[in-house]
Amino acid sequence: MRIGAHVDPTDPLDAAAIRKAEAVQFFLADPQGWKAPEPRADAEQLRAADVDIFIHAPYVINVATLNNRIRIPSRKLLLSHATAAATVGAKGLIVHGGHVSKGDDVAVGFDNWRKTFAYAAEHGGFATPVLIENTAGGDYACARRFDALARLWDAIGEYEVGFCLDTCHAHAGGEELLNIVDRVKAITGRIDLIHANNSKDGFGSGRDRHDNFEHGMIDPDLLVAVVRAADAPVVVETPGGADGQSADIAYLRDHVGG
Ligand SMILES: [Zn+2]
Repeated sequence: MRIGAHVDPTDPLDAAAIRKAEAVQFFLADPQGWKAPEPRADAEQLRAADVDIFIHAPYVINVATLNNRIRIPSRKLLLSHATAAATVGAKGLIVHGGHVSKGDDVAVGFDNWRKTFAYAAEHGGFATPVLIENTAGGDYACARRFDALARLWDAIGEYEVGFCLDTCHAHAGGEELLNIVDRVKAITGRIDLIHANNSKDGFGSGRDRHDNFEHGMIDPDLLVAVVRAADAPVVVETPGGADGQSADIAYLRDHVGG
C-alpha cells in the first residue's frame, strides 16, 4: 500500500523524501484560480520517480453548477489539468464532486457531470484518470451524501470514472466511516485513492477542517480500518507541515499492517 501526503508543488519529490512518502499529491496551478497549468521543469523527474503522483484540481472547478460562467470554464480547466497531469505521470486527477446552487435541481447537476465526460470524450478523453472526491458540506452537493453519490454514478456510469474517498469529508458530511468502503464500492465499484484525514469538527457538521490522526474527532482506529479495507493508495492532507504529516504517515504504517 502506497502512503503519502499532499505537499507544496515547489519540490514534490523532496517533500516526499522528507516525509518518507511513497505517494504525493499537489496542485499544478493556484487552487483558487482559473489559470491553466504551466509546464513543469521537473516533469521528467516526476514521471521517472518511484513515487506515485496524484494531482488535485483547483477548488474553483464546479462542473455541476447550472451557472454557465462557472460550468463552462470548469470543464475546460478540468480537461487542461488532466492533460498537464499526464505530463508528470499522474495516476489520478482528483476533483471535488461539486454542487448546484440553492433552489436548483441537483438532477441537472448530475447531468452536467455526464456532459462533462461527454465533452472530454469529444476532445479525445481525459489524459489522466479523473477521480471524483466526496465533499463535506452543502445541501445541494453531488457527492456529499451517498444517496446523491449513487445518483451521480447512475448519470456517469457509462464513462470510466474513478473515486477518491476523503475520511474527513465523509465524517463531516454525515456518512458513517464504519463499513464505508463496502458502501462506496456498492455504488462506484471502486476506490482509487483514500484521503486519510481526521476532522476538527463533529459528525455531520458539514465543515471541512482536516486534523492530524491523533487530534481530531474521529477515532484513529476507524481511519486505519478504512485504509485497510480500501486497499488503495493513501494521501494524508493533514496539517502540521512535514512533521505533522510524517507522524500521520508513520501512524498508518504502524497500524494498517497489524
Ligand atoms: Zn481530500
